[in-house]
Amino acid sequence: MSPAGKKFDYAPAPESRAILDLKPSYGLFIDGQFVDTLDGRTFKTVSPASEEVLAEITEAGQADVDRAVAAARKAYDKVWSKLPARERGKYLFRIARILQERARELAVLESLDNGKPIRESRDVDIPLVAAWFFHYAGWADKLVARPLGVAAQVIPWNFPLLMLAWKIAPALACGNTVVLKPAETTPLTALLFAEICQQADLPPGVVNIVTGAGDTGRALVEHPGIDKVAFTGSTDVGKMIARSTAGSRKKVTLELGGKAANIVFDDAPVDQAVEGIVNGIFFNQGHVCCAGSRLLVQESVHDEVIRKLKRRLTTVRVGDPMDKNTDLGAINSAAQLDRIREMSGIAEEEGAERWSPPCELPSRGFWFPPTVFTGVAQTHRIAQEEVFGPVLSVLTFRTPQEAVAKANNTPYGLSAGVWTDKGSRILWMADQLRAGVVWANTFNKFDPTSPFGGYKESGYGREGGRHGLEPYVTLGDVQ
Ligand code: NDP
Repeated sequence: MSPAGKKFDYAPAPESRAILDLKPSYGLFIDGQFVDTLDGRTFKTVSPASEEVLAEITEAGQADVDRAVAAARKAYDKVWSKLPARERGKYLFRIARILQERARELAVLESLDNGKPIRESRDVDIPLVAAWFFHYAGWADKLVARPLGVAAQVIPWNFPLLMLAWKIAPALACGNTVVLKPAETTPLTALLFAEICQQADLPPGVVNIVTGAGDTGRALVEHPGIDKVAFTGSTDVGKMIARSTAGSRKKVTLELGGKAANIVFDDAPVDQAVEGIVNGIFFNQGHVCCAGSRLLVQESVHDEVIRKLKRRLTTVRVGDPMDKNTDLGAINSAAQLDRIREMSGIAEEEGAERWSPPCELPSRGFWFPPTVFTGVAQTHRIAQEEVFGPVLSVLTFRTPQEAVAKANNTPYGLSAGVWTDKGSRILWMADQLRAGVVWANTFNKFDPTSPFGGYKESGYGREGGRHGLEPYVTLGDVQ
């Protein structure tokens, strides 16, 4: 920001799309090949920043899901589970290296299909994707446990390729084969990943990608031929999956919603905390399950923090995801934009005070400005429900005990942040907070060595690190 408190002007810095070889239509990836549907339909995937149709995608029907599960079963029985573990590791290392080699192509495609800024897909998503494959490649030959069999994996649209990596890398390292369904609005990087599997000579059937919507996901998780379900998405769908798999032999992990508290104490370095608040809720347009969507700020520093936060938000650049200067990209879909608008409207009706910096939004596409609600009460829906957008609720507290009570007053328990100068307070808070991840003086940091997952309605099971292997193995006999 300039001394006068105004935004610097930036010349446009668009990332080129020339690196992409986007096809007009895509089939399903089953048994190592792209195939046409047997009983499904097609739908279009669009760029949320412009509503431009990017490609026609296949919606897999029941017969397609049957075929994909059969291919995964055959590959499991005849090839993958029979390979020496170090050979499986070699395939994963090869995939990791190709992901690095094709990183730019993947980043461009991810930003185009998802709407996230190229700066984030280039510097965060894709490097983490490769890191996840490298990490689990290294685990492959160090395990004595047995794989489960065929894993059904259903992922959301907020980190399309990263969620694919979180699912596929540990599953394959442990010796399982997979059928993965990407989200309806973001199928393209999963289909490019399928090409990478071909390029890596991965044996056919080890990875199968069935695109489609909720019905395809349901057909997959309810399929009698699978041994394991791994799901990331909304708590509502997670509950449906828990019900539909109850009583079956399927091992289930669910990574669901969150309503994380980002807690700022009066001894915190305020400028750093403000950066952490911005990163916590506006990274990836707030489409982050562990987003710091509830700011709990100690009453004595409330005014200073909010003043500095608002000033900082006037410098946030909202716009074309393909521009390397963009901070906040497009909302992923019209449906999600409706949800964010609805929740923001409810917050106003319930009495919270709404603020957004002045910013011009593009006329086409799905856009929402960075938004802060102050004067939020614990009972407001905006303080309880996941918005999954660039919307921050601000609450206050006086004592650490009050901060803990408010932070834990949610059905969720995925993550939390603590900003303070005192190490002892960090440890005390981490002990008290019912959250799977607690960040201290930072936020939204991810690493493949670190387990991630929730308490309460944020789901069960852990992804990442050694803990992330457990959901994909059994220490007993597989039936
Ligand atoms: P969903 O939970 O519906 O989507 C997650 C994945 O599950 C998608 O691949 C989806 O397919 C699939 N799916 C949908 N219905 C079923 C089903 N019955 N059985 C199996 N799979 C299914 O999330 P939405 O995209 O609808 O988002 C709704 C809200 O959920 C958001 O507003 C946000 O609050 C929250 N959300 C939370 C996420 C998180 O990581 N915590 C991630 C995404 C959303 P399809 O995309 O085709 O519908």
